Amino acid sequence: MVAHIIQWRLMGRTISPIEPSETMHTLQRGAINAGFIFFALAILALIAALYMFVWPTAYRFFSPSETGPLIPKFTNHLVTNNFWQTFPSVAVAIPFLFICGFVTVYFLGSKGFCTYACPYGGFFSLADKLSPWRIRVTDACNQCGHCTATCTSNVLIHAEVKQYKMVVDPGCMKCMDCVSVCPNDALYFGFGKPAVAISKSSAIRKNYSLTWAEEVLGAVVFLGSFLSVRSVYGLVPFLMALGCASVTTFLTLRTWRLLTTKELSFYRFGLKSGGKIQKAGWGFLTFSIFWVGLNAHSGWVRYHEYAGDRAFQKIQVPDELALAQTNPTPWLSPIERENALAGKKHFQTASNFGLFINGDALSKLAWFEYLSGDTEQSVKLLSQAAAHQKEQARALSLYYRGAILNRLGRYEQARTSLDEALVERQDLILARQEKGESLWQLGRKEEAISVWTDAVQRNASLALASNQLAGAERSLGKFEEAIAHEKQADQFTPDNPLYHWMIGLRLKNLGMKELAEKHFQRAIQLDPGYQVRSK
Ligand code: SF4
Ligand code: SF4
Repeated sequence: MVAHIIQWRLMGRTISPIEPSETMHTLQRGAINAGFIFFALAILALIAALYMFVWPTAYRFFSPSETGPLIPKFTNHLVTNNFWQTFPSVAVAIPFLFICGFVTVYFLGSKGFCTYACPYGGFFSLADKLSPWRIRVTDACNQCGHCTATCTSNVLIHAEVKQYKMVVDPGCMKCMDCVSVCPNDALYFGFGKPAVAISKSSAIRKNYSLTWAEEVLGAVVFLGSFLSVRSVYGLVPFLMALGCASVTTFLTLRTWRLLTTKELSFYRFGLKSGGKIQKAGWGFLTFSIFWVGLNAHSGWVRYHEYAGDRAFQKIQVPDELALAQTNPTPWLSPIERENALAGKKHFQTASNFGLFINGDALSKLAWFEYLSGDTEQSVKLLSQAAAHQKEQARALSLYYRGAILNRLGRYEQARTSLDEALVERQDLILARQEKGESLWQLGRKEEAISVWTDAVQRNASLALASNQLAGAERSLGKFEEAIAHEKQADQFTPDNPLYHWMIGLRLKNLGMKELAEKHFQRAIQLDPGYQVRSK
């Protein structure tokens, strides 16, 4: 305000008021004022802010898979030593480039992806209306139409510059092709009125190449194709899915025209002439059927992956409980058993009929197999999953494999798997806890104690590892250390009968019977119903 007053006093004029009532004058009288620009920018910023800041919290609140607190714990990610983490792998990047860089350009034109697929284009087209920097014209224009013929964004440049003295079509990408081809040097990129200030009453009528029915069909096909390929096999990223959907939509609409019109061409190829499909037309039709068929197949696989995921999210039994003994059935509710069976069927279908291996889906299938009692199949699937995964996902598959092998008594194999998990992720403390168990069972007791100690030092609240340490030291006659670890364990053991029962089972497996009995008794004390459970 002070700056406003100073400017007004010194210069005799100042920036117009930034308030809602002033903003209305823009659309009422065509007066672009500071209030209008400020609020337009604020609305755009608000939309972006809602997406960036409100949507993630709403997702955490409503998504059944989000079990953590509404506001997550914040950690420092200002620097990274894994630069490629958020980029697709080379195996994905090559088809990505091929589809978005070549296939979309071939079918939809050089700006096809930007015009029809890119979501940012839609957002920027709104902002473009406010932009004062535009393609503008001088009086040298003689309406030759050269510019319009050159523009690959389908802008009617000669008509727009005649009517508005500038290009107002939001599809203009400021590529300057028109500027460079104008024989009279009549076009330039310059500052002035934004497009929003142009009266709409005399808008230029455009010719549209699609009928309304085709527009609707195109929208439905685009959406269906996008949902079909997005994340299928855990591979296809967002922009690549948009590229695929654009090509599928183009091919579907062209195929429809090929079947329903008498004449049709594509570039220099005559696809249909006199109602008869030509050689090139059959080639086009074959490619179109192949592409759309591949899309439909991806949609079918994606559906099964999605349904499997949904079933996976409905399994609530904590991993520690499910892994307490080889048969996790007693811990599952009837609904969880149903979900495990349904999820298994969906993932098996996706895996049996898919064209590529989806490592993440395989690891979930492995979990369903384990919950359904087929531990051997679960171990096999986790090996396959790990072979197709990287980093965290691979480490987790190897950890679960090691944990299940421990329950099966195959301790040497378990130790190897857990070591591999730790190579992938040093900080996977649960893998250390399990590795301690393998070593203990293999008779390498000092090593087991050292691994458990390391795990507890990294995370003092690991109740099971502290209990294991207490049991180990007690069995080696180190009573003072055992008491200290038992105290630490008690501090972090949740007073939940299920949890005490699970710890009892794990300690019993390790031969730490005395400590195991303490937890069994505590579980019974908390819930007398546990008396009938088999230990
Ligand atoms: S190419 Fe130049 S002269 Fe011809 S219509 Fe376009 S702006 Fe006018
Ligand atoms: S700048 Fe490029 S996109 Fe815009 S009107 Fe000219 S040729 Fe078309």
